[in-house]
Amino acid sequence: MKQKLIVGNWKMNGSLAANAALLQALKQGLPEGGKAGVAVAAPAVYLAQLQAELSGSAIGIGAQDVSQHEQGAFTGEVSAVMLKEFGARYVLVGHSERRQYHGETDAVVAAKAQAALAKGITPIVCVGETLQEREAGQTEAVVKRQLAAVIHQVGACVSELVVAYEPVWAIGTGKTATPEQAQAVHAVLRAQLAAATEHAGRVPLLYGGSMNAANAEQLLAQTDIDGGLVGGASLKAADFLTIVAAAQ
Ligand code: PEP
Repeated sequence: MKQKLIVGNWKMNGSLAANAALLQALKQGLPEGGKAGVAVAAPAVYLAQLQAELSGSAIGIGAQDVSQHEQGAFTGEVSAVMLKEFGARYVLVGHSERRQYHGETDAVVAAKAQAALAKGITPIVCVGETLQEREAGQTEAVVKRQLAAVIHQVGACVSELVVAYEPVWAIGTGKTATPEQAQAVHAVLRAQLAAATEHAGRVPLLYGGSMNAANAEQLLAQTDIDGGLVGGASLKAADFLTIVAAAQ
């Protein structure tokens, strides 16, 4: 079976003290020789803390955003090279909260994915439809449009992506897509990747949207669900560890 990948998205949460406690609990609680890949995506200011606390551990470091630019007059932005200096292996791009609150377009998301890849960081490309789009029967068209922009931009590097399907209506709402709903969209994404690369099977397809300790196992049992992007439940060590255990 393909190795699963579980990524925690802390969003704008945490403090030096709370992070230290959470990371300690995760390090202690991870199974020895566990098969699933595990990473946490923290606010950029805490990456140095993660780098120090996670050195020698199997938990990968992730960031939540990256600039599409290399350097220069882009106040407030953080470049891929900077993230790399602090050990980032992954970066979320196109999270729905960034699309919604920061006006990130498909083109911007694609440029960010490209900027990350260029510096050796794996972009976790987030796609997903709103409730309105789902109800209008547009789910497939929306996620395909979002992913197409990235595929077009990164060319031969498609197989180096991670893709996360996160229905916007399921994020932070406690409403999870059913395993069947999630699998159906994942199958669409897999087919789209397969049309772009012969290595589509290698691209981890994560599900995100109120994944928790109770529903993770069923979701992760679906053929095309290769892992999870976990928001709220990643802030509680016991819950996150249960999800990781379900991915072994
Ligand atoms: C997320 O923010 O990526 C997410 C999936 O959040 P939650 O698990 O809280 O729905």
